[in-house]
This record gives sequence, structure tokens and C-alpha cells, in this order.
Amino acid sequence: MEEFNMKAQETHTLTKVVCNCCGKEIPLVREGIWEEYFHGEKSWGYLSKQDGRQDSFDLCQECYEKMLETFKIK
Ligand SMILES: [Zn+2]
Repeated sequence: MEEFNMKAQETHTLTKVVCNCCGKEIPLVREGIWEEYFHGEKSWGYLSKQDGRQDSFDLCQECYEKMLETFKIK
């Protein structure tokens, strides 16, 4: 989950990134630079079960690795 500073009109500055899986905040390396994390985004079509929904989520490196472990085909 990426949180933006909506006050900045044109450039929505990223202020905080939280892992959607474990709720941990992604650590800042330095001003504006976060430790690497996985960002997923999908706009579902209207014919899908999700019916036009827009999904996005972020995962820390540990949760990303755990997610890969659950795949049958690596
Ligand atoms: Zn996590």
C-alpha cells in the first residue's frame, strides 16, 4: 500500500509504503528512496469476476518470497 502526499498537486509524492501482507512499513533507505519492494497493479476487465475493479498491493521482500513459495510452478 503506497501512501501519497495529495497536497502536492501535480506530483503526488510517495510518503509511506506498507506491506499489504504483514503490515510492516517498508524502510526508507534515504529521502524518497525505499528499500526494494514488490508493487503489483491490475485493472480487471468488466467480464471478469472482479468486474472492473482496480487492485494494487505492495509486498516486502520477505512476503514476496513467501508468496513465491506457494506457487506450484516456480
Ligand atoms: Zn511483508
